[in-house]
Amino acid sequence: MDSNIKPADSIQTTCPYCGVGCGVAATPSLVAGDKSHPANQGRLCVKGSALHDTLVPNGRLLKPQVEGEERSWPEALAAVRDAIRDAVDHYGPGSVALYLSGQLLTEDYYVANKLAKGFIGTPHVDTNSRLCMSSAVAAHKRAFGEDCVPGCYEDLELADLLVLAGSNAAWAHPVLYQRMQASQRAGRRVVVIDPRRTATADLADLHLKLKPGTDTVLLNGLLVWLVQHGATNSDYIARHCSGFEETLASAQEVAPSVTSVATQCDLDEDDVEQFYRWYADTPRTVTTFSQGINQSVAGTDNCNAIINCHLATGRVGRPGASPFSLTGQPNAMGGREVGGLANTLAAHMEYDTPGARERLAGFWDTDRLPEAPGFKAVELFEAVHRGDIKVLWIMGTNPAVSLPDSARVCEALAACPTVIVSDCMANTDTTAFAKILLPAAGWGEKDGTVTNSERCISRQRSFLPLTSEARPDWQILTSVARELGHARAFQYQRPADIFREHAMLSALACKASDGRQVFDIGALAQLTEAQYNQLEPVQWPVSIDEAGDVTGTPRLFSDGRFATDNGRARMVPISAGLPRQVVTSRYPLVVNTGRIRDQWHSMTRTALVSRLLTHRQEPSIEIHPDDALHYGINDGTLCQLTGPGPEAFLGRARLTVDQRPGEVFIPIHWSGCFASQSVATNLIAAVTDPISGQPESKHGVASLSSLASRWQARLMRRGSGGGLGKLAGFCDYWCRQPLTHSTSWWLAGNQTIDWGSDARSWLGGEPQLIMADAAQGRFRAAWVVDGRLDAVLLVDREVGLLPDLAWLDQCFSAERLSADQRQCLLAGRSVETEEIGALVCSCFQVGDRQIASAIRRGHTTLEALGQTLKCGTNCGSCVPEIRELLAHPA
Ligand code: SF4
Repeated sequence: MDSNIKPADSIQTTCPYCGVGCGVAATPSLVAGDKSHPANQGRLCVKGSALHDTLVPNGRLLKPQVEGEERSWPEALAAVRDAIRDAVDHYGPGSVALYLSGQLLTEDYYVANKLAKGFIGTPHVDTNSRLCMSSAVAAHKRAFGEDCVPGCYEDLELADLLVLAGSNAAWAHPVLYQRMQASQRAGRRVVVIDPRRTATADLADLHLKLKPGTDTVLLNGLLVWLVQHGATNSDYIARHCSGFEETLASAQEVAPSVTSVATQCDLDEDDVEQFYRWYADTPRTVTTFSQGINQSVAGTDNCNAIINCHLATGRVGRPGASPFSLTGQPNAMGGREVGGLANTLAAHMEYDTPGARERLAGFWDTDRLPEAPGFKAVELFEAVHRGDIKVLWIMGTNPAVSLPDSARVCEALAACPTVIVSDCMANTDTTAFAKILLPAAGWGEKDGTVTNSERCISRQRSFLPLTSEARPDWQILTSVARELGHARAFQYQRPADIFREHAMLSALACKASDGRQVFDIGALAQLTEAQYNQLEPVQWPVSIDEAGDVTGTPRLFSDGRFATDNGRARMVPISAGLPRQVVTSRYPLVVNTGRIRDQWHSMTRTALVSRLLTHRQEPSIEIHPDDALHYGINDGTLCQLTGPGPEAFLGRARLTVDQRPGEVFIPIHWSGCFASQSVATNLIAAVTDPISGQPESKHGVASLSSLASRWQARLMRRGSGGGLGKLAGFCDYWCRQPLTHSTSWWLAGNQTIDWGSDARSWLGGEPQLIMADAAQGRFRAAWVVDGRLDAVLLVDREVGLLPDLAWLDQCFSAERLSADQRQCLLAGRSVETEEIGALVCSCFQVGDRQIASAIRRGHTTLEALGQTLKCGTNCGSCVPEIRELLAHPA
């Protein structure tokens, strides 16, 4: 897949998806892993491997729009200016808000933060990173005095015990998972803490399938056990920590014994004991934590409970020994650096950092800095709903889908007088509410820096011209600043100008803290344009020697000195943080939400690649077989989850013992652009961690029922054109799936339709091929225009009776259907075609039926399957699923 890329032909850039921050060698038509990048050393996951296929104009926002009309840039910028001025004049600066994104580059973020806080004077600048890792940020500040990840990726390979808490790294951070997997060696152990058995548990020597929301109990119990067994590092605690006694006393109250922990967490006592013993016996222990820990009303406490145990054993910032927050988004950390969270100022300076406001005001030469923090994401949209925010500028994110209580967020967006959206895509659930739409540059066109989970700053370089009238976000922001009369403070000509200023500010902040502040990239403030362009990945804090060589810092706090006032780390007493959304007789199921392997966020980019939509084609509801039996649901049944909110979630049941009884799992990716009613956040209430403001996205509640449907259907139309036509009015469920040569819709409905008469003409013109079997509830029709396939409609009583799509999709590419294709069209497959089953390997399009068949033929190892089918031999993302098929052959 990547062997044709030569380094000389490609540009070194960075993947725009997850927080691993993989280096990519890119050309407009191919991508490969950058072997020289420290994060991935040449690896890419399935999403990264498909990046070149997303470089298409489909769906791009091409020109600015104001109130639905295309406008020139000067007109659109004037409209933004007037809206902001008007709001500030009439309602004050606090009536303007910016909602940013972890997809923005650091330079974009810096200018957004400076414009909002420094010159509009509003504190309301928050980001979708609030939804992802703000609990980890708050915990770092509480424990270390600053938002710092102490370790580095190498630690995941050096650790003798890896604890993966609330992290499905196999799917959410695939390349890091591969690094962990590759470094398995004799004696090394892996413990997975997760209510679900995810693909990550494939790596686990011990999987603690705990009751959701009991993480603090398990971790407090660990601290108590370590003390009881003399396994803490009392010298380290005495010299480098504060708060140990209070923390222990609190832990003893919550989790006095292994028996108590096992009971509260619904775990086996021996398993709990085993985990504790391994932890005690293994100096080189890394605990990674991610959304399962962060997205909780006790998210900050969860993170601090992890850090407490590392502090108690002195395992912070040492090779193979650290707590390690895995960031979800590509530049969440860059956003944190510049102050993209509403409760920080800039460059790791807080509102309550002594002298910080004055220092920043002087540096930016402004007198408009707000005095107190602004609204965090959920509060912000509540303020929009109340009418307090008159202008809301959203950049590169889709809050109508990603924020909890999506229906209320949509109400807020609809009621806001001016919603401005900068995005590279024209149609998202959020752009639908925009009064002003600004076309932003996309990946491949943008130029700047990002910072990954291990504090590594990498260049994201452009290698494509801008699409149509799209502009980089920093440029749009700079233009608005100039329109508002602040040209002197926004004289940036290129990203390097912004980066140097950002670096300079970090040095100022660090110096003012007497060197206590860790975030310092001041050494990069003098980079020339050429040096910036050639900047190699480097971990902050950064130093530079006389020869101009830049040196990063892999680990922090190794000497036991922290960024607190007294240099000591703070251990934090943690109580049992139980979920706020609790099951009732009306809503008896716990709803867990998360990512699937091949999709990213609300699918605006990943759905452009048809092979990324074949692993999971529809929204699903994963459910334990016992629950399925109770509700009378089979595998594949279309189901409805209904929570306290007004909107339900529709998805296909996937029966799996990986799920605990009483709990279901749904994916976060589908939006109103891709399915009729499958926005996961509709089942999540807007309740948040009181410290971090992060929503409790892992613990909604709902009731479950099957969706009554008389018929199931698939409609396929050539290319991306066309829609459902009149059929839409008869569907209780639809889900759109862009394929390579056609667009497909899964459909279901309960109304009786006379397919043989009414439906035939709904799609325009009479079909040329028809097969109807009313007794079986079966109807199939194909529309062929001048010998070319235009549309296919396949109706059946059960979804399992409908054919795979791969062969049919190929038929749409033929200029003229062959006799064989025409003959087999309504069967949906050629006689020679092997049914591949559910897709496992996206890179080589290998399905579970093919793998099962190969196993039956004697290919009973991962290597043998790779040799015969190629599955698992490219990005490796599917390896856990192949192993599962090998362990349990059909
Ligand atoms: S793991 Fe995959 S999605 Fe994440 S940065 Fe690397 S290639 Fe991109």
